Amino acid sequence: MARYTPMMEQYLRIKAEYQDAFLFFRLGDFYEMFFDDATRASKELEITLTSRDGGEQGRIPMCGVPYHAADNYISQLVTKGYKIAICEQTEDPKQAKGVVRREVVQLITPGTVMSDHLIKEKENNYIVAISEFEDDTFALAANDLTTGESMATILAGDHHEVIGELSNLAPREVVVNSESVELSNAIQERMTVTISIEDDTRIPETLTPLSDHIDQPKLLHVFGRLLQYLIRTQKRSMDHLQPLRHYHISQYMKLDVNSKRNLELVETIRDKKRTGSLVWFLDSSVTAMGGRLLKQWVERPLLKQREIEKRQELVETLMKQFFERETIREQLQGVYDLERLAGKVAFGNLNARDLVQLRKSLEKIPEIKQAVSSLDNPYAKELGEEILPCEELVKLLQDAIEDNPPLSVKEGQMIRDGYHADLDTYRDASRNGKDWIAALQMQERERTGIKSLKIGYNKVFGYYIEVTRSNLPNLPEGRYERKQTLSNAERFITPELKEKETLILEAEEKIVDLEYSLFANVREEVKAFIPQLQQLARKISELDVLQSFAVVSEENRFTKPIFSKERKVAVEGGRHPVVEKMLKGREYVANDVMMDRDREILLITGPNMSGKSTYMRQLALISILGQIGCFVPAESAVLPVFDQIFTRIGAADDLAAGQSTFMVEMLEANYAITRATQDSLILLDEIGRGTSTYDGMALAQSIIEYVHSEVRAKTLFSTHYHELTTLEEDLDRVKNVHVKAVEEEGRVVFLHRVHDGSADKSYGIHVAQLANLPEPLIKRAEAILKEFESESDTVTKPEVESNTVTKEKVTVEEEEAQLAFFNEEAKRKPARTPAEKAILDRLKSVDIMEMTPMDAINTLYELKKQL
Ligand code: ADP
Repeated sequence: MARYTPMMEQYLRIKAEYQDAFLFFRLGDFYEMFFDDATRASKELEITLTSRDGGEQGRIPMCGVPYHAADNYISQLVTKGYKIAICEQTEDPKQAKGVVRREVVQLITPGTVMSDHLIKEKENNYIVAISEFEDDTFALAANDLTTGESMATILAGDHHEVIGELSNLAPREVVVNSESVELSNAIQERMTVTISIEDDTRIPETLTPLSDHIDQPKLLHVFGRLLQYLIRTQKRSMDHLQPLRHYHISQYMKLDVNSKRNLELVETIRDKKRTGSLVWFLDSSVTAMGGRLLKQWVERPLLKQREIEKRQELVETLMKQFFERETIREQLQGVYDLERLAGKVAFGNLNARDLVQLRKSLEKIPEIKQAVSSLDNPYAKELGEEILPCEELVKLLQDAIEDNPPLSVKEGQMIRDGYHADLDTYRDASRNGKDWIAALQMQERERTGIKSLKIGYNKVFGYYIEVTRSNLPNLPEGRYERKQTLSNAERFITPELKEKETLILEAEEKIVDLEYSLFANVREEVKAFIPQLQQLARKISELDVLQSFAVVSEENRFTKPIFSKERKVAVEGGRHPVVEKMLKGREYVANDVMMDRDREILLITGPNMSGKSTYMRQLALISILGQIGCFVPAESAVLPVFDQIFTRIGAADDLAAGQSTFMVEMLEANYAITRATQDSLILLDEIGRGTSTYDGMALAQSIIEYVHSEVRAKTLFSTHYHELTTLEEDLDRVKNVHVKAVEEEGRVVFLHRVHDGSADKSYGIHVAQLANLPEPLIKRAEAILKEFESESDTVTKPEVESNTVTKEKVTVEEEEAQLAFFNEEAKRKPARTPAEKAILDRLKSVDIMEMTPMDAINTLYELKKQL
């Protein structure tokens, strides 16, 4: 069998263990890739594909990236969801016998990247492990390696439940059992995430303290999987991992994937950007840690009224005590990302500049503590006590680390004078030596009378005396040894210069070495403070989010909502905060939302673009803001504590996900109505739009009926089927509301104001006109509409006249006719007259089983007569 060169054999041995990763194989100053890795990487990274002699097998595809620029290439690959195994030379090539020993020192994966330019400041970078159990439960454990935070929960249900929670955590990578194929597929259908396998679920012995306090086997199982994976990939100590936190999703308002997306809580639907989302709107946090916690809070509104009010009250205090709030904000400006600094300490990849940042951050803490403690609020006092300034650590950093150290830790200039006696001695020697050289230059100038004589230094010759060619004759013979000739100067050395040079260089080398080891010691000492730093980071983030709520509430004229146990919504002058902000100058029309036991379902009609879905989302956002402890955009608000919010709102990307709009619509509607309780809020936007008119209308109606009788959740239902507005008569707790628009000079003007009752006209054609459809097309549509209207007049008018119908009823029929112009079928559907309704009622009331055949015939005869 043909063989490769010994190095390629080594490569192949290592690569065999890292099939699913790009193997970055260190060769001198490069990381090289071979075979398929090389072919793929050259495409992904747009780098040149070359080849290398592989021994008897001939040439092998190869491409490489320079060691010093590797970070950039690694980032590109990780961003695309790939993994990279970093394989280093682990012995000195000079000492090596045969092929240099090489080992993979780290597996970089999307969920475990630590590199600054790959992780977003204000977002966590979670990796999530999942375990499936036979009793239809799942355990999820999440970890953010940059902050060391770990948490786990148990979910009952199906894949949907898992995906719902995953969407909250938004991991870049999910770790599952090798047999969890179905689950992996389900996840990958819904989200862009790297799936990795880890079958070992034992908690590594050295890490047992992280989960000693947990006694649930399922949690330990999944946490074991997570830790095993982290150890396998990171191959280093992870001292900053925090104890596992067990969380229950039942502690929080449930927001499924669709709701989170439809309500644009963390990113917009259209372009998936943070700008335009609720988090973006709410974020006046000052620190990166605060930004991350704010996002977590928005995704997890609270359920316990007392906890909500605790936050609310502190927000209120922060709004009132302006001076303290400003002090806190000002000091927070100087606080760097303590959590991630702690992570870097643990990983050992922090430099002296990071330590300076740490010191500066900690120096801000006493003043923050002071300001928080002087807030007139019990929660603030509690926070004040929990914010601990880590004085010992501050002292250490103040004493040890220079104010402006270089980026590299191998060049010295990091450690302060006076911190270490030996270092001071070497520094004296080096400084004295340099002074001595400066003095020598003066002496030599005097002695030779050559004013331009100078003493310089270069790496090859060390210190030298330089004399320009024209001055050479003035140089005395003997003492000066020629070392280098330049075009217009000569360089010389003298024995005393060389002697001093040795002293200086020795001292400098010692300084650099000693500084590095002192720095490494300080870094070790800082490790001991990791738990304290993490605790401090948590409290600071909390404070930061609350002050952010206060600032945003004040700037946007928010009010404090009142929570009521009466299942009642009474929002006066409510606004959609993000839409309002986006209107830029145009006025937002505030609207009331009133719902109670008699108004459980609001059926919203109105032309397209009138503001129906904004109105629906507005209530959801007000509820979420309320339940995270923030004030809300309204003049006044009484709210229930909602346990869940469901939404079915048409989204542009449904089709892209590969399912038909209608199927998605039905799945989401089903999801909502089967899980909602009396305490939930459901938003259903234009249900049934995705299919033919009758189909859609029938489904829409039956969904409303079902929610009305079975679910009894608070529901906002927008529809363009005006036929449905008659449901108000049959279903007690359904109420019509509509968004008004008026016509001015043949154009439609949206007032965006919501009123009780149903809409009186469809403005489809005018909307088309606004959208600048060609004028002839609009004219033609108007003509067709007229035809429909006159046809429907002839169909319905006589009946309307022959039966004493109220004026309102006529309006409804007119609308039906208007709506019908979109659909041939619909136009033929006659409205149900009171007479017909009476017949139906009578039919419903007869009990056929109790009737004789004669009775039945008589009843039928009577009914027929009424027509
Ligand atoms: P619909 O669901 O009825 O088609 P939308 O709710 O999408 O309408 O609203 C369309 C646009 O109208 C929004 O993008 C917004 O610019 C504007 N709008 C909606 N509600 C209001 C309001 N209350 N005040 C001012 N502008 C509004």
